[in-house]
Amino acid sequence: EKLGPIEAIIHASGLLRDARIEKKSAQAMKEVLQTKVDGLINLIRGTLGDPIKVVAAWSSWSARFGNIGQIDYAAANELVNRLCGEVERLHPEARAVSIMWSPWEDSDMARSIPPIVRQGLEAEGVLFVPTKEGMERFVGELLGGRGEVLIGLEMPLEERTLLSRQTLSLESHPMLSDHRLKDKAILPFASVIEDMLEASRGLRGDAVVAVHGVELCHGIQIDPSVELMLEARSRRFSHSPECGHIELNARHADEQPKLAYRAQLLTDAELPEPIALQGEVLGLPMSIQTYYEEHAFHGPLMQSVSRVLELGTNHIIGLLKPSKPASWSSLEKRSSWLADPLLLDGAFQLVSYWLWALHQVTAFPTRVEHYVQWGSVPTGPVRCVIAGRDEGDGVFSGNIDFYDEHEQRYAAMRGVRAQVFSRAEKASASSTSSSAEIPPERYRMEQFEEVTSLLQRFEMAEKAGLRNPFFVQHHGVARDTSVVAGREMINFSSYNYLGFSGDPEVSAQAKEAIDHYGTSVSASRVASGERPFHTELEAELAQLHGVDASLVFTAGFMTNESVIGHVIGEGDLIVHDALAHSSILQGAVMSGAKRRPFPHNDVKALDAMLSQIRGNFRRCCIAIEGVYSMDGDIAELPGFMALREKHKCLLFVDEAHSIGVLGANGRGISEHFGVDPTGVDFWMGTLSKAFASCGGYIAASRPVVEYLRYTTPALVFSAGMSPANAAAALASVRKMREEPQRVQQLQQRARFFLERARTAGIDVGMSDGSAVVPCIVGHSMKCLSLSERLAQRGINVQPIVYPAVEDSASRLRFFISSLHSEEQLGFTVDALAEELRTLA
Ligand code: PMP
Repeated sequence: EKLGPIEAIIHASGLLRDARIEKKSAQAMKEVLQTKVDGLINLIRGTLGDPIKVVAAWSSWSARFGNIGQIDYAAANELVNRLCGEVERLHPEARAVSIMWSPWEDSDMARSIPPIVRQGLEAEGVLFVPTKEGMERFVGELLGGRGEVLIGLEMPLEERTLLSRQTLSLESHPMLSDHRLKDKAILPFASVIEDMLEASRGLRGDAVVAVHGVELCHGIQIDPSVELMLEARSRRFSHSPECGHIELNARHADEQPKLAYRAQLLTDAELPEPIALQGEVLGLPMSIQTYYEEHAFHGPLMQSVSRVLELGTNHIIGLLKPSKPASWSSLEKRSSWLADPLLLDGAFQLVSYWLWALHQVTAFPTRVEHYVQWGSVPTGPVRCVIAGRDEGDGVFSGNIDFYDEHEQRYAAMRGVRAQVFSRAEKASASSTSSSAEIPPERYRMEQFEEVTSLLQRFEMAEKAGLRNPFFVQHHGVARDTSVVAGREMINFSSYNYLGFSGDPEVSAQAKEAIDHYGTSVSASRVASGERPFHTELEAELAQLHGVDASLVFTAGFMTNESVIGHVIGEGDLIVHDALAHSSILQGAVMSGAKRRPFPHNDVKALDAMLSQIRGNFRRCCIAIEGVYSMDGDIAELPGFMALREKHKCLLFVDEAHSIGVLGANGRGISEHFGVDPTGVDFWMGTLSKAFASCGGYIAASRPVVEYLRYTTPALVFSAGMSPANAAAALASVRKMREEPQRVQQLQQRARFFLERARTAGIDVGMSDGSAVVPCIVGHSMKCLSLSERLAQRGINVQPIVYPAVEDSASRLRFFISSLHSEEQLGFTVDALAEELRTLA
């Protein structure tokens, strides 16, 4: 009443009850907290109606740095700091300052500190404030200070350093072979982020997974090897949020190290808000598989995007698959990643897909402002949400959020920048000005990267003690058994489905043909003329398929490649099953037509795709297989036949693994489904599988076959089928007609094997009702060693590994023959199940 309203609060009380945490009592802690915190709260509450202009609170340096025995005191002072922050909200006109003092020289508190402890504190930068200076400082803060003020000595910054060195090569890091730019394997930006996160954690020892301002200074080429030197420094006493930095230098043999990447460490890692999406949603102009095949620089091991879920004018959402450290490097000791470079790179791959889909440009990341992750990285699929835009001047900028399989956001990347290149720039960037500068890797095939990396892979397998399972010598006929290195083995690596190879009658007819016609027809049939065995074989094959005519070629591969490449052309479209055989893909590439894979055996997806794009093309050919050679599942033929009608397409069916295998009489997939064979335009088959020979054929309507006979390059410009081959195939086709029980026996044995394998818990993938049964192992090295162990037990089965299939789809592939006995099949399943158990 006498002095007017209260305009300022000075809160300067404090109490110490120092003790190690296990010695503290609840009561003592309460006293420490109450004195500081309740004192200030009471002051603020009691003056809510007063026109407060200044609040000045005495806090402690322990609130910032902590102190031994002062967990309560540190917490109390930090609460004081925060309460001061609240004052300005309650009194918008007010100014609040909390001063984090170190001890005052003449106080009881300072005097209670033992000399030895005092020396230690002084060494750490704690200033014992003389009363006079303290008062001056206090008045200064009272008149003008605001926020949190820390009083201490200016100390030289204590720096901590972490150094690491490693040498990378394509041998030690096989994944990097699949990250190539201009034919050079390049270290992904994403893997640098992982290394920097690791360094930051190692250095600062905290649980936060964060790194900031990661910037590309110079790209790192791997081949033949590169030494990486990572140096991370952090400052202990830092007033600024920036508390350290990381540099990654790279050195190639005999060269000076070059600064390749740098980044900053910050004291606080803010969790950004989730990305809000805006803009229009667009249709997908191409599948991610097509993007990878035709436009990306990522090989199969590095392809992380499994699906694009949504594409918009300003955003893209996709599913990413993670990796394990061991798949990157054989030397890797970690069992899990901090952030997973494949997931991070997958996000960049989505950005590239988006840029390509919208603008036909590609981009490489150059800077990431913040990567912050809370919790550990998921091991299941990750949903990635990206919002971004083309900034012009060749710069893309965007933000990325990562969600785990439970839809929890677990990481965010902000301020991603990428350099955008047009396709032309990409091509020209790889050319050099004069031939003198062209390095030998471009003109000596022994030094081509693909040659050296293949040989390196073999070397790795050899070092791991694995036998090379390819090009193994067999002696004698490859049937249910085969003789390898003088030992009879149960054989699953030949397609002698009906046992005709080695059949005495088939061999006799082949020999007879040789006696009569010699061993070769010595030129193309157009030039040197026909022989009866060509005509008879073609008539038999046409009859087998239930169509007018057929035409035989000297290889199945060549049949697909040459016929597809010939019939379809520029302005046309070929849509093929995503798992189609290489010969179909080669034909499609050769044709010059637009090529689109559709999801495996998915009639609905193909229907949707054709509804959208069929109209833009002259001709469209759908290419499928009767039975898929890697997986052993059967095509949904009736559905594809309906699409042929609906969308006015040609239908091409490769019966390599279904002729002689499906249908009561081995007439293939049309007999299996009981459909009219004239509802397919091209029946393609091979003679090397069920028909004990070598060659391929097309069975079709007469006009089609006549046209192909005169125009297909592989027929017109290549020698005709040899007498022995044609006679063996002819004898086999006829024998199959006469002995359909062979086909039924094959079907029974295949079913027996499949069911027994399923019962034993073996992963047979999609195999269903054919003579191809895979055992999915999921790891190349494991797969090789499984094949090796089975070989030791007298079972010969071929491993299928990368690059034939993705590493995660590595498998053993069993071809069942009608000659296999149930004993052989049962023994094999039991051995396989046992070996799989011990391998796990
Ligand atoms: N198509 C498919 C589905 C195949 O599996 C193969 C060979 N495995 C071919 C075509 C090529 O046949 P060939 O071996 O007779 O050249």
